[in-house]
Amino acid sequence: MVSRFYVTTPIYYVNAEPHLGHAYTTIVGDALTRWHRLLGDDVLYLTGTDEHGLKIRQAADAAGLSPKEFCDSIAPKFADAWERLDIANDDFIRTTEPRHHAAVTELLQRCYDAGDIELDTYSGKYCVACEEYYTDEELLEGDNCPIHKRPVDHFEEENYFFRLSRFQDRLLDWYAAHPGAIVPEFRGNEALGLIRGGLRDFSVSRTSLDWGIRLPWDDRHVAYVWFDALTNYLSATGFGDPSVDYTERWPVDYHLIGKDIIRHHCVYWPAMLMSAGVDLPKGWAVGGWLLVDGEKMAKSTGNVVNPLDLVDTVGVDGFRYYVLAETSYGSDGDFSYDGLVARYNSDLANNLGNLASRVATVVGKSCGGIGPAPRDDSPLAAAAATAVADTSAAWDAVTPSRALEATWSLIRATNAFLEANEPWKMTPGADLDAVMGDALEALRIVTLLAWPAVPSTADAIWARLGLDGSVADRRLPGDARWGGYPGGLTVTKGDPLFPRIRS
Ligand SMILES: [Zn+2]
Repeated sequence: MVSRFYVTTPIYYVNAEPHLGHAYTTIVGDALTRWHRLLGDDVLYLTGTDEHGLKIRQAADAAGLSPKEFCDSIAPKFADAWERLDIANDDFIRTTEPRHHAAVTELLQRCYDAGDIELDTYSGKYCVACEEYYTDEELLEGDNCPIHKRPVDHFEEENYFFRLSRFQDRLLDWYAAHPGAIVPEFRGNEALGLIRGGLRDFSVSRTSLDWGIRLPWDDRHVAYVWFDALTNYLSATGFGDPSVDYTERWPVDYHLIGKDIIRHHCVYWPAMLMSAGVDLPKGWAVGGWLLVDGEKMAKSTGNVVNPLDLVDTVGVDGFRYYVLAETSYGSDGDFSYDGLVARYNSDLANNLGNLASRVATVVGKSCGGIGPAPRDDSPLAAAAATAVADTSAAWDAVTPSRALEATWSLIRATNAFLEANEPWKMTPGADLDAVMGDALEALRIVTLLAWPAVPSTADAIWARLGLDGSVADRRLPGDARWGGYPGGLTVTKGDPLFPRIRS
């Protein structure tokens, strides 16, 4: 039976263009889902854009456009950026789509019918940029927003509230029964801490807002951010469409999120689903921030890095590799241009690129350009088996940096094997063929394991080894077993895969 694997990124708010932070999470999701594609899983990888709310209305007004026109001008920039970064998402959802409208309406109605959404009056201090009310203790001197450091507004309005306060015990019981649902574990502990700290009801509607989805039972109110945004993960499964069985795709295997949205994804969202009688997600994988000069990248701090500018320097795969390998997923990473170039030169130019080039050069010179078959009892076979097992375990645990470390251990072992045997000094014959057959086979396995991170490079090496088709058509673990390189294939050298960059 084919197993299904469903992964989501947060939907990105279209008040700004795609930046490094967006790219980071989206590349992690892409590599993770590519790994599962190699396993033969039926993958659904979802990303998209969040297009409702006051900030969009304001940005549209400033641009002299209607909100929908404004969203239509920004959403394609995300879709284009992901295409340029080789993101193989299966679906791209926009919260202005009818299917999303249907899902939000259905979820709201279910929670309302369950008695967990009730009308109340809200008055408080509200930051428009955060779309959050703040308590006096949370505000800075002079009633300034702690994030934006500018004055908040006093709002008073009739709101519907979701009774989150009723869900504390149920959430704690659920998480106790599902240990490891949130990875890494320390991020799971943060979520539990938020729940144990006490839960406040949260507002799910606004009357002051017109750019959004109206509540099905009271059209004076428009759904406020959380019921609108979070529900996208269900919309893509067909939830709310009576002709579709959404449980064919739901529950999701992993929501990939940043650490700043743990409260909404790991506390609000499961409570909303419980209320609505919908199964909870199987997992959440929480990433840290990629900091630039020690600060979170944000429009307001002026340190926004456009990922597409970096691609011009290190290539798409160089950039993908860096963001996956440099930072342990879950922890904060510090992005720097020097770090990007250093990692490119060491891991890609000197290790992977050099291995591919050496192997092709020696086969070209001393084997007539025809790759020999590997030995069954090769000294590299054990290193290959370990790399396959460790890479696999690391992807299972959603730890891309460890997966790549495991894959690169086979590259290092193969380079060391070549340095020990010095095939470039050997005379053509059986001994040389044995060494080169082993190296070709190790490189073939590396190519399979590295494909999720560096897909176009992997496909290029695959073709240079003389192998048919694309890596995408291979299946693990079977195709990564030692001995798969048949020998007798034409090996080509080609241009350097990763020309060194002078730093
Ligand atoms: Zn704020």
